[in-house]
Amino acid sequence: EQETSDYRQRLGIRVSGFDVHRPVKTFEDCGFSSQIMSAIKKQAYEKPTAIQCQALPIVLSGRDVIGIAKTGSGKTAAFVLPMIVHIMDQPELQKDEGPIGVICAPTRELAHQIFLEAKKFSKAYGLRVSAVYGGMSKHEQFKELKAGCEIVVATPGRLIDMLKIKALTMMRASYLVLDEADRMFDLGFEPQVRSIVGQIRPDRQTLLFSATMPWKVEKLAREILSDPIRVTVGEVG
Ligand code: ADP
Ligand code: MG
Repeated sequence: EQETSDYRQRLGIRVSGFDVHRPVKTFEDCGFSSQIMSAIKKQAYEKPTAIQCQALPIVLSGRDVIGIAKTGSGKTAAFVLPMIVHIMDQPELQKDEGPIGVICAPTRELAHQIFLEAKKFSKAYGLRVSAVYGGMSKHEQFKELKAGCEIVVATPGRLIDMLKIKALTMMRASYLVLDEADRMFDLGFEPQVRSIVGQIRPDRQTLLFSATMPWKVEKLAREILSDPIRVTVGEVG
């Protein structure tokens, strides 16, 4: 465990150093800042869901995580809250060189839900969240990305388009989330996902969430996550 964070620290990525891998029982157990705690209270989230109890401490420790839990179990906050902590921990936050947190989801609707959740929790710190999926013209999106952001929530196809026209760079990206990985594969986005992952520094923290774990997704996880911890909640088909 220690080795992973030493490795990352050597390469310049700061991990929060939260070293408790026992499941948390409350949000207070996570050691969140008062800004994050008040955002949680505003959402009326009284206590973490089962997947959050298990995943939050591990993600906060800097480890890669494979999270398997069905729809509606609260996976979004399990990666969005530690992402805010991760971003605020980075020493080069002032330098504007593209997003630090990159979240990929298979559809525009899913990406939009994550975008809204990410906005709620990043507001207190003034972090900028960009939505990179259909809905905005590519020209408008280009301009918005050029203005800078700390978080990108994207569908794979549109993110590749934006990377191609250099609307953003992945130089600063060190926290990558692949959400609904099984659906990403069902929709044929494997090549795009691999291309995006290939453009992000290898010492990133990577999280992969999925409702099911078919072999193809398992194989990708083994290739792109480094020494991940697996968190499973409920029965998984
Ligand atoms: P999943 O990604 O696992 O399908 P979501 O992250 O979309 O699930 O969460 C499902 C719903 O549960 C959302 O409406 C979300 O706001 C709500 N939710 C998430 N965490 C909590 C919590 N700790 N307490 C109460 N509601 C929560
Ligand atoms: Mg989800």
